[in-house]
Amino acid sequence: MSRVYNFSAGPAVLPEEVLEQAREEMSDWHGSGMSVMEMSHRGKEFMSIAEQAEADLRELMAIPASYKVLFLQGGASQQFAMVPMNLLRGKTGADYVNTGAWSKKAISEAKRYGAVNVAATSESSKFTTAPKQAELALRADAAYVHYTPNETIGGVEFPYVPDTGDVPLVADMSSTILSRPVDVSRYGLIYAGAQKNIGPAGLTVVIVREDLVTEDVVAGTPTMLRYATHAAEGSMYNTPPTYGWYLAGLVFQWLKRQGGLAGMAEINRRKAEKLYAAIDASPFYRNPVDPACRSWMNVPFTLANPELDATFLAEAKKAGLVTLKGHRSVGGMRASIYNAMPEAGVQALVDFMADFEKRNG
Ligand SMILES: *Cc1c(COP(=O)(O)O)cnc(C)c1O
Repeated sequence: MSRVYNFSAGPAVLPEEVLEQAREEMSDWHGSGMSVMEMSHRGKEFMSIAEQAEADLRELMAIPASYKVLFLQGGASQQFAMVPMNLLRGKTGADYVNTGAWSKKAISEAKRYGAVNVAATSESSKFTTAPKQAELALRADAAYVHYTPNETIGGVEFPYVPDTGDVPLVADMSSTILSRPVDVSRYGLIYAGAQKNIGPAGLTVVIVREDLVTEDVVAGTPTMLRYATHAAEGSMYNTPPTYGWYLAGLVFQWLKRQGGLAGMAEINRRKAEKLYAAIDASPFYRNPVDPACRSWMNVPFTLANPELDATFLAEAKKAGLVTLKGHRSVGGMRASIYNAMPEAGVQALVDFMADFEKRNG
């Protein structure tokens, strides 16, 4: 058994316990004589898996009964289009907060369907901070406000939930969902691609307030891209991503065993503090992000001498610490330390960094 510590931004590490359980259940799920992959999505076995996963997610996030939980495909990127198609509801436009690479993609897609007002942008800081509430130029007649609570590439996380009054707040939580408790009632819609903090790629979770699920969609919106279609059919209008849904359910049960999101938040805080402390303690390493907005999930850092980058990565890999290369747009390193990254993995990285500095500093 030689598991590495995988710091990939996504698809990302999954809890080892979950992988072991999936292996045990791989070819014969609970005496059914078949793999979850081979089951009809409408059969009673899979229906029980699907219902349990939804119930566990609702419990973990304390999702009010007035919200639908949808298990879709298409990734977060498909939500960049589905959100405006479904939520503009006859209004001319929406407000977007621009905090980096993923916000920008959401904005450019939304422009295909309506007018986008960029309510705030942190571009002048090179996306190293999040705008404050007072800096958000929100419009009362906007159809919704979209923001990215955690920018996966820049490593910037909002330290607060924007107050948007009566205008629905929409959040791309792909890289922060389930990392700490959130008050779902503050949001009109939350979406997340699964491959960072939920399960395998191919599943997208959408949590949407019922009154936002309407037939008042942008003209020409395909059946498959309407929330109403999936809400009416329990996400089984067509074949859902059954195996991803099942694995997400195993992750939800694992999260409950960690003490739910409050327990997870404690662990995540410790992991992030340990890594940022190691970076800040030395001029050899640097993280550019405003300390108030540093992500608990994605930690980019650079070496004082970028000529050492390749050596750092090669030696880290030998030490069993992989996928630390930073995003091509940022350079340097990025350690993604999602829920499933054990504390021992962060400790191993911090120890390696200290040792590398000793030998090269
Ligand atoms: C990874 C990511 C995306 C893209 O997700 P896909 O599922 O690949 O479409 C969008 N937004 C954020 C914040 C992400 O981290």
